[in-house]
Amino acid sequence: MRIRTAPLFFLLLCITSLFAQQPSKPTASEIYHELQKLNFLGSALYIAAHPDDENTRLISYLSNDVKARTAYLSLTRGDGGQNLVGPEIRELLGVIRTQELLAARRTDGGQQLFTRANDFGYSKHPDETLDIWNKNEVLSDVVRAIRKFKPDIIVNRFDHRSPGSTHGHHTSSAMLSFDAFDLVGDATKYPETAKEFGIWQPKRLFFNTSWWFYGSQENFDKADKTNLVEVETGSYYPSLGLSNGEIASLSRSMHKSQGFGSTGSRGRQTEYLEFLKGDFPSEKGNLFDGINTTWTRLEGGAPIGVLLAEVEKEFDFTNPSASVPKLLQAFDLIRKLPEGHWKTVKLEAIKNIIAACTGLYLEAVASEQTVAPKGEVKVTIEAINRSKVSMTLNSVNSTVIAFPNSLMATPLPYNKSYSLESVEQTFSGTEYSAPYWLSKKGTLGMYRVDDKSLIGVPERTNQFPVTFYMTIDGRQISYERNIVYKYNDPVAGEVYRPFEVLPEVTSAISEKVLIFASNDAKEIPVIVRAGRDNISGTVILQHPSGWVVTPAQHSFSISQKGQQQTVIFTVQPPKEQHDGYIKPLVQVGDAYYDTELVTIDYDHIPFQSVLLPSEAKVVHIDIQKKGQHIGYINGAGDAIPESLKQIGYTVTTILPSEITSENLKQFDAIVVGIRAYNTVPELDFKQTELNTYVNNGGTLLLQYNTSRGMNDTELGPLPLKLSRDRVTDENSEVEILAPNHTVLNSPNKITQNDFKNWVQERGLYFPGEWDPAFTPILGMHDKGYPQTKGSLLVAKYGKGHYIYTGLSFFRELPAGVPGAYRLFANLLSLGN
Ligand SMILES: [Zn+2]
Repeated sequence: MRIRTAPLFFLLLCITSLFAQQPSKPTASEIYHELQKLNFLGSALYIAAHPDDENTRLISYLSNDVKARTAYLSLTRGDGGQNLVGPEIRELLGVIRTQELLAARRTDGGQQLFTRANDFGYSKHPDETLDIWNKNEVLSDVVRAIRKFKPDIIVNRFDHRSPGSTHGHHTSSAMLSFDAFDLVGDATKYPETAKEFGIWQPKRLFFNTSWWFYGSQENFDKADKTNLVEVETGSYYPSLGLSNGEIASLSRSMHKSQGFGSTGSRGRQTEYLEFLKGDFPSEKGNLFDGINTTWTRLEGGAPIGVLLAEVEKEFDFTNPSASVPKLLQAFDLIRKLPEGHWKTVKLEAIKNIIAACTGLYLEAVASEQTVAPKGEVKVTIEAINRSKVSMTLNSVNSTVIAFPNSLMATPLPYNKSYSLESVEQTFSGTEYSAPYWLSKKGTLGMYRVDDKSLIGVPERTNQFPVTFYMTIDGRQISYERNIVYKYNDPVAGEVYRPFEVLPEVTSAISEKVLIFASNDAKEIPVIVRAGRDNISGTVILQHPSGWVVTPAQHSFSISQKGQQQTVIFTVQPPKEQHDGYIKPLVQVGDAYYDTELVTIDYDHIPFQSVLLPSEAKVVHIDIQKKGQHIGYINGAGDAIPESLKQIGYTVTTILPSEITSENLKQFDAIVVGIRAYNTVPELDFKQTELNTYVNNGGTLLLQYNTSRGMNDTELGPLPLKLSRDRVTDENSEVEILAPNHTVLNSPNKITQNDFKNWVQERGLYFPGEWDPAFTPILGMHDKGYPQTKGSLLVAKYGKGHYIYTGLSFFRELPAGVPGAYRLFANLLSLGN
């Protein structure tokens, strides 16, 4: 299901444009804004754990008010979150949230950085987090980010002194930043990045605190603030027509998958930064106090500063190209500076400002959106100078496609468009364009990135560059433009998409988890998709030993790129309980292909093509069940009904309006979906009917609800009190408290084996108190926490059974965890 979101596209601060693949078209005000940033030589790095942790007010303030080079280092890509805009979860959600962060930074003017840490889900304590992440690797990535970006100040979102009080990832991000501050200036620590980027010592480290961290505004008002720096961030930017709070909200609203749409505010807004390390800033409210942020920071920089101050002062909003002669003088001077970090940064910035001032438009457009390696594609370039500045296009060059070499010194007169087509030929780019961090399987806690130059990079940019070699008023200047694809949509108009290199063939099994609840074979369709015209070959289905697949291979033949062909294999499970993966392998000539292509298309982020291992989990479960017809009352949404159908139950969805005593009689058991009592208000009025159903001999199973705003007495026929107890370690020990209870013995005998290989967590929001009629079945706890006994509560009520469980069946069943299926079947079998 897709919720279309209204486009909310403000072209802000647009030397970098809205979508990475779209050309920038900055206004005079935006050019002026960039010019002001050109004259500030200071950098700030904000550090937290997830996409959406960042305080966009502070990032926008640093970038637009202070005009510092500002970046947000998010340790993870947010794979573990929920998705409010579509069905993508886990690594695909990480792809969406990576792009949401990039969209946020294009809005607030910051840059985006990452580490290889994977958001594996909730963790209570940094000890657990740093156990699952490779602490040393994540710390080395933080060190790398600091040495590469070279911030003067670092700001942590979270408090490094608060283990256990917030998400373990949050505290870990602050702890790693706190440690890294003392390592980055020492060449013997992580010598590899010291060698690559040089050592670097930031001047100071802050913690971006707020009243929230003090428990209440009242506590915060009373707190000692001598160590806090107050910063007024509520500026209004006339050249942009927006307040800092408004930009921050536009940026925050990019986190659409998390439902973080935000309404802008105007007026004063104070941020508090607690000083942690380095030199305390003596000037009130100046985070950069004591840091030279002018051109005199650089040896030989003084005359550049004088010149660029004049450019800023004389800037003509009706004719930005009037600034070009002095900008070119400054460009010459910057080029002569000794090699160094700021030289590289400012040379790139001034080049882009010169192009913007002349209205120079350069673009390279492919004839196809995708191409297979060595496929055919045509690339057309457009170059136009919309100023009176003298300009010549000397040559165009690309490593992936050839242009006619007759092109020499073509003048670009005022407002006359020049275009040139590539010599039609084989495209020589061979590396696939899909998200690089997913190309190899990592661990639960870490992405695997073999190419060190990609570590920390949000995505591969400029993968297929075309270089335009220009002479601008006598200076040799070159610009790179990545090849893009665009088309005209009759409704939307001009639509840009990334130009991509993708495999010539991909395959997919639609169902990612296939449950075999008996010894019967299943027919499994495999979809083969062509990435080029006229392709044929064979498909085999790799499988775990003991499983039987027929036929041994299928052949396929597809005439058009983008078309699909489905082939069907029969899969027979082994006799005993077993699970593993089946993986299609496609052979074309002597090449083999084993990836699936998944595309992601939302309005607020660029179109994404993702390559994942093509596979499906097959699980043969030794399972018995009693009863057949299950009624399902939906809550916030889960895939339990599909899972129950996979093991042979008949499942009927019951709408709240259909909950009548008469209608409920037909069901052998009724299951209520996750957070139903939080999300379906009508349930409050249907309790009598549900209670009667149980009283007359039915089985009612409630899954977890959250305690917020919940009147506990209204949950089911017997009172219980929800707590915030959760067990987040999916491998935590389970103690069987009621070994003789029917739910652990019939029809399936539940043993410790059934609690193996659970995913993500054991469960959440367990009741903390309950009616004596309940029997607690299982005890469990996370390392260092007391045992909880409320994860599975079963009671006899009248002639029937009432079950309340916070166990995460909604995660375990879709993931194909055998023990979870066996236990769930026992719960449903209770009354039968
Ligand atoms: Zn977070």
